[in-house]
Amino acid sequence: MHTGAGVDLAAVAGDAWGAVAAGPLAPADRERVARRDRAVRAAVAQGLLGPGTPVAGLLDVTGIRNAAAELRAAFEAVLPPGTPVLHAFAVKASPLVPVVRLLRAAGIGAEVASAGELALARAAGVPPERTVLDSPAKTPAELREALAMGIAVNADNPQELARIDALVRSAPTRSPLGVRVNPQVGGGSIGALSTATTTSKFGVALRDAGAREWLLRAYAERPWLTRLHAHVGSQGIPPALMVRGLGEVYALAEEINRRAGRRQVDTLDIGGGLPVDFGSDASAPTYARYARLLAEAVPGLMDGRYGLVTEFGRSLLAKHGTLVARVEYTKAAGGRAVAVTHAGVQVATRTVYAPHAWPLRIAAYDAEGRPKEGPPVVQDVAGPACFAGDLLAEGRPLPELAPGDVVAAPDTGAYSFAHHYAYNSLPRVGVYGYVAEDGADGVRFATVREPQTVREIVAESGGAHASALTHL
Ligand SMILES: *Cc1c(COP(=O)(O)O)cnc(C)c1O
Repeated sequence: MHTGAGVDLAAVAGDAWGAVAAGPLAPADRERVARRDRAVRAAVAQGLLGPGTPVAGLLDVTGIRNAAAELRAAFEAVLPPGTPVLHAFAVKASPLVPVVRLLRAAGIGAEVASAGELALARAAGVPPERTVLDSPAKTPAELREALAMGIAVNADNPQELARIDALVRSAPTRSPLGVRVNPQVGGGSIGALSTATTTSKFGVALRDAGAREWLLRAYAERPWLTRLHAHVGSQGIPPALMVRGLGEVYALAEEINRRAGRRQVDTLDIGGGLPVDFGSDASAPTYARYARLLAEAVPGLMDGRYGLVTEFGRSLLAKHGTLVARVEYTKAAGGRAVAVTHAGVQVATRTVYAPHAWPLRIAAYDAEGRPKEGPPVVQDVAGPACFAGDLLAEGRPLPELAPGDVVAAPDTGAYSFAHHYAYNSLPRVGVYGYVAEDGADGVRFATVREPQTVREIVAESGGAHASALTHL
C-alpha cells in the first residue's frame, strides 16, 4: 500500500466509527434536542405548520453555525498554524441559497457540481477563490466559465483534462487545477454512495493498468496541475477505508513532487464523507475525531506541507434539519395502525425507496406541537403519495397518533426535504430557519424557501404549452 507513512492504517483507524457512548447525551446534543422541541411547538403556534401547509422543513441556525465552527476548529487543532485550508460545503447536501450564505458567514466555502449549484453559490455570495467545481460531467461552457472566474476545478478524466489543456492555452486562468483520483480502496455499506470501488464512475481509477504512470506523466507535462482530489465516499464508509483512500492520494502527491523535484502539488482536496449517526441524537463521529485520525494515520497529509480542501456536506447539515408533518388520518389495516401524514417520498426520497439504507427516527408531537406521551403502539407512518411503499417509517412503536398530531423526522437537514421529488405533483415544501432562545415563545423563524403554490406546479408542468400536443 502506498501510504508513504509507515503506519498500519487499518490498525490505527479500525473498521467502525465506534459505537456511540451509551449514557446521557453530551450537553450540546441535549441543547439541540431542546431547540428542536421548541421549534416544533413554535412552528405550530406561528402557523408555519397547519391544515393549509401540512408539511415543512425546519433548520436549526445555531446548530449549523456550531457545526461550521467545530469543523474549522478540528482541523486548526491538528494542522500547523498558517496551513491554508478551505472548507468547501458540498452544496448538493442542502442546495438552499440562505444555507450556503449562512455557512459562508461562518467561514465555509462551496463545492459545486453543476451549473445550478455554482449559480446558488454565487447567489449566496461565495467568492470564486472559495469555490470548487467537481462535477463528473462538466460541459465545455461550464469549464470555460469556471476558468474565467478563477474557480478551482478538479478534472475527472483524461478527456476533461484535454479540454482544460485547450482552455489553459487559450487564456490565462487563476483557477487552481487538479485531477480527481479514485483510490479504488473499496466500498462501504451503501453501494450507491461508495465512490472508491474498483468500477466507480468517478475520477481516474488509480489502480487500473497504466493509470499511475499516466497521472505521473500528466502532472510532469502540466506544471499548472497543483492539486489532487479524492472523495472516498459518503455515509457508510468505515474510517479505515477513508484514511486508506486519502493515504493513497497523499502518496501519489509525494511521488509527483519527487519526480518534479519541487512541490508541484501544493494542495490536497480530501473530499467529504464523514457519516452521521441517524440512530440517535449524538453528534458522532466528530470532526475532531476525524482530523486526529487523519493526522495519526497519514501524518504527512497534515504536517503543513500541503494546503487542504475539504468538502463536507451531510455532516454539516443533517443533524440540524427536522421534517415536520401533520397527521391527516389514522386507520388500521390487517391489524397494523397506520398514520397517514403529509411527509413521504417528496421529502424523504431516499428513505422511501431504500428504507434499510436510510432509516429515519420519528418523534411524535400532539396537535399543539408538544412531545406526545403515551404507551407505544406499533404504527406505520405513511406519506401522501399514491404507491404502497410511500412510508416514512414502518412498524414503529410510538404513542398512538391521532388526526391533527404532528410527526417529526430529525436528521433530515441534508439530502432530504431540500431535495424535492415531484411525485404526484406534490408541492415543494417550505423551509424555515430558526433560532430558539430559552422559553416557549423565544423562537424566531426566517423563510429559507417559500412553499410551492399549485399555480407554480402547473407552470412548471407545461402549463404555458397546454395545446402543444393537440396542435402538432
Ligand atoms: C457528495 C460529495 C461530497 C459530500 O459528501 P458528504 O457525504 O455529504 O460529506 C463531497 N465531495 C464530492 C465530490 C461529492 O460528490
